[in-house]
Amino acid sequence: MFGDLKGKRVLVTGSTQGIGLAAVEAFARHGALVGMNGRKAPADLDSTLARLNALDGEVAFLSGDVSSSEGAKRLVEDFVARFGGIDVVINNAGGLVARKPLEEIDDEFFDAVTDLNARSALMVTKYALPHLKESATQSGTTASVILVGSVAGYTGGGPGAGLYGAAKAWLHNIQKNWVNFHTKDGIRFNTVSPGTFDTAFHADKDTDTKARIGAGFPMGRFGKPEECAPTFLFFASHACSGYITGQILDVNGGQYMP
Ligand code: NAD
Repeated sequence: MFGDLKGKRVLVTGSTQGIGLAAVEAFARHGALVGMNGRKAPADLDSTLARLNALDGEVAFLSGDVSSSEGAKRLVEDFVARFGGIDVVINNAGGLVARKPLEEIDDEFFDAVTDLNARSALMVTKYALPHLKESATQSGTTASVILVGSVAGYTGGGPGAGLYGAAKAWLHNIQKNWVNFHTKDGIRFNTVSPGTFDTAFHADKDTDTKARIGAGFPMGRFGKPEECAPTFLFFASHACSGYITGQILDVNGGQYMP
C-alpha cells in the first residue's frame, strides 16, 4: 500500500522517542531513508539504530535543537549532506516545556514554548522548501510536509498548557497559507493532530491517573505511538494522498470531534 515510500528521504524532527520514533520505525519498515533527530543522542542510540537499520530502510541520527532557527537550518543541511535531498518533512518536535498558568507566564517561558512548537516547524519547513521543490520536480509527483498538531489546538489545552495549545492551533492554521502559496511548487502540507498518547509527554501522571483519564475517551484508553505512525505514512505517500493537502487528521480515539 505504501510502496512509493521506498527510497524516499524523510526527515522527522524530535524523533528519538514516542510518536516520532514510532514514525521513524514505520518509514524504515517501508524502505525509506530516514533522519532521526533529537537535541542529543539518547543513551540507547547504538542499539536503537541497529534495530531500525535491520528493517528495510536506512536510519541516521542527526542531532540538533530545532527550537532555534540556526539549529533548524543546520539540521536540514546535515540531512541533505547525508541523503542528497528531501522528499518528506515531519515537524514532530514539540512539547509543553512546563505547565504554567497565565499568572506565571513570563517572556522566557513564552519564547521557550513558541520556539519549540511553532518556530521549529516554520524554520525547518522554510529551509527544506528548495529541496522539497526539487524533489517534486524530479519525481513528477509531490513532496510532503507534515505538521504535528494536537487536540489542545482545538480545546485550548489542559492546566498550564494554554501557550502550548495556542502554538498547536497556530500550526493548524499556518499550513493554510503554505497550501495557498506553495502548492504550485508541488508540495503538500497536512497535519496529524494526536489526542492523548502514552509517551514521555505524560510522564507527570502515574498509571492509575492515565487509566482514569483514558476511561473518559470513547476508546477508553490513551493511544499508543505506533497507532499514530500510519497517518504519517499516508500523508507522505503520493500514491495514497497525492490530492490531499491542507487537512488535519485527528488521531484521538474519539476524544474530540471537531
Ligand atoms: P516525547 O516527549 O515523547 O518526544 C518528544 C521528542 O522531541 C523527543 O525525541 C525529544 O528528544 C524531541 N525534542 C524535544 N525538544 C527538541 C528540540 N528542541 N529539538 C529537537 N528535538 C527535540 O513526546 P511525544 O508525545 O512523542 O510528542 C511528539 C509530538 O506529538 C509533539 O509535537 C507533541 O506536542 C505532539 N503531541 C503529543 C501528544 C501526547 O499525548 N503524547 C498529544 C498531542 C500532540
